[in-house]
Amino acid sequence: MNLILSNEGLIHETSYSDISFYSDQTVYEVIRVIDGVALFVEDHFLRLEISMQIQGLLIQMSYSDFKQNIAELVRLNQIMEGNVKFVYSVAKGNAHWAFRFIPHNYPIPENYQFGVTTDFLFAERQNPNAKVIQVGIRNLADQMIADRKLYEVLLVDRDGMITEGSRSNVFFVKSDVFYTAPDSMILVGITRKKVFDCLKELGYTIVEEAVSAKEVDDFDAVFLTGTSPKILPVISIGKRLFNVQNPAMVRLMDVYNQMIREYIRKEL
Ligand code: PLP
Repeated sequence: MNLILSNEGLIHETSYSDISFYSDQTVYEVIRVIDGVALFVEDHFLRLEISMQIQGLLIQMSYSDFKQNIAELVRLNQIMEGNVKFVYSVAKGNAHWAFRFIPHNYPIPENYQFGVTTDFLFAERQNPNAKVIQVGIRNLADQMIADRKLYEVLLVDRDGMITEGSRSNVFFVKSDVFYTAPDSMILVGITRKKVFDCLKELGYTIVEEAVSAKEVDDFDAVFLTGTSPKILPVISIGKRLFNVQNPAMVRLMDVYNQMIREYIRKEL
């Protein structure tokens, strides 16, 4: 059973057409659910407001309704583990919104143990701060991922700087220093923000500067962050290999998981 909560009321998955894929303007959020608890809902709502503003749209839903709708969807679909996707689209002059359940199928446990493969894609997201579907880049990224059997591609801008993944943020580790591109260049990930909190707790240094594609050999470890995968070690960028057992990164992954368990415990 997969029930969708939308501006038209409750609808069944089979009678739902995701208009976001052919809409002129689509803003979305993906919220992780673990043990039946939706994580960091307030952060997602605040980012949704920013994305809407960038698109010139105004959200007609309060934070408490947003939160309640997610809780309702989790209850109706008896979700213990997975993601809730919220989509707001404008197509043919009509606004439409929906919350739906997206199963959590990957990464698989081996991806955390052995790391994931990546390579560079020379492309720039427009209005990077808005969580919007940019069909051109998404298709290019997905095609490259499929053809080259990669997990993710890292976007490189016109100055040769690595900004983020096609659906993740990226960090580079050298000793106990963590580098990641500044807010202005990327989608400001909720996971990235929570990783900052964990890094501060651990006493590690954060440098908000993009790394040049030419400099990646200088780093010990690389990892991706995102709502669904959380923190995911990268084994390779093209032919260059990285340490997936980097002690600072492994400690960070432990602290992040502890932080999530604590969040869930408080919400239950
Ligand atoms: N950057 C891009 C382009 C994304 O699409 C995503 C997530 O889908 C992220 C970064 C990671 O953001 P978050 O941690 O909020 O999932």
